Amino acid sequence: MAAVDTAVLADWVSRFGAAVTEKRDWLTELDSAIGDADHGANMARGMSAVSEKLGASTPATVDELLKTVGMTLVSSVGGASGPLYGTFFLRMGMAAGAVSELDGPALAAALRAGLDGIVARGKAEAGDKTMFDAMAPAVDALDTALAGGASVVDAARTAADAAAAGRDATLPLVARKGRASYLGERSAGHLDPGAASTAILFDTLAAAVE
Ligand code: ADP
Ligand code: MG
Ligand code: MG
Repeated sequence: MAAVDTAVLADWVSRFGAAVTEKRDWLTELDSAIGDADHGANMARGMSAVSEKLGASTPATVDELLKTVGMTLVSSVGGASGPLYGTFFLRMGMAAGAVSELDGPALAAALRAGLDGIVARGKAEAGDKTMFDAMAPAVDALDTALAGGASVVDAARTAADAAAAGRDATLPLVARKGRASYLGERSAGHLDPGAASTAILFDTLAAAVE
């Protein structure tokens, strides 16, 4: 596929919703170890609100689609993940603009803007044991793959692999942001729930662009 259009992005959002709903119990289990056991419920509730809001019709432009997703997440999820994922989609939509499709570099730039939005909002840095630790390597890997001449399909799969590796690398980390940071050293030895949902976000992106 040459470009990622609104139908592909809507398919991504829908696949992400289905996947977090399917993995709700696992995400909640991860959050029960180092948080308040609601990450699966938060993500499933937010994405179900998104699916209701979008209904059967796909907005004509990328910014309209992604901003709707972001605003719905911000308003329907109370936990940290709602405003953070909400900001991600909002910023991604703003960066994409009123276009009907994105080529590889535009997709990468929009995802980078989403990541920057999460950092602006949550101030996470590498190694803080948050969703940043899965997302930053994924966005970097996408850039590198595209710069090396990879197709969008291959670059998105490379990004998904990097997100999964980033998720796994949160296991030994001591959390420095969010609720898990209240546990201090006891947060080590568990995967970060938000990094786990971010790996799902990039896995479903790779599946949608395929
Ligand atoms: P809450 O912690 O409010 O219950 P969730 O359980 O839905 O919200 O989400 C927790 C996840 O949010 C964490 O696993 C982490 O990945 C992410 N998170 C928390 N605080 C931050 C932050 N400041 N920056 C980036 N991500 C964060
Ligand atoms: Mg929680
Ligand atoms: Mg909570």
